[in-house]
Amino acid sequence: MGKRGIEILGLDVNELLTELNKAFADEWLAHYMYWLGAKVAMGPMKGEVITELTEHAADELRHAEMLADRIVELGGIPVVEPKLWYEMTNCGYDAPSDPFVRKLVEQNIEAERCAIDVYDKLVKMVEGKDRKTFNILQEILEDEIEHEDDLEALIEDMDLLKKNQ
Ligand code: FE
Ligand code: FE
Ligand code: MG
Repeated sequence: MGKRGIEILGLDVNELLTELNKAFADEWLAHYMYWLGAKVAMGPMKGEVITELTEHAADELRHAEMLADRIVELGGIPVVEPKLWYEMTNCGYDAPSDPFVRKLVEQNIEAERCAIDVYDKLVKMVEGKDRKTFNILQEILEDEIEHEDDLEALIEDMDLLKKNQ
């Protein structure tokens, strides 16, 4: 972005870049959590769970790409060191060390709830100040809301399956 484009932003670009990079770290960790969860999942409804986790892994990677592109446009550099993801993350990383499907889905629900809170805060931060970043963050927030809902639906189906056995 050029000088004037930066000047009309109604906020401190460096602060915005820090927040976008923290969210970028979150997205890579979320991507890996889903991606690995889909590889190790075991238990009832494994097929459905793997399909959902795999889709969400792709969505989180796409979110990382959207954030990286915007960071570069704003004159920043996306986090270059993966080891910094752990330091910068808002939502942390809950390793999928227990492959039981229900446990994996519950862990990912917690991560989605954190992501929803993070993007809700960021959307409010840029609202009326940076239209393009607002649109990007709004789109990501809508995806995270859908992710939580999809995972909650899987837990409901698991409960029904258990009740009818
Ligand atoms: Fe995401
Ligand atoms: Fe998500
Ligand atoms: Mg889904």
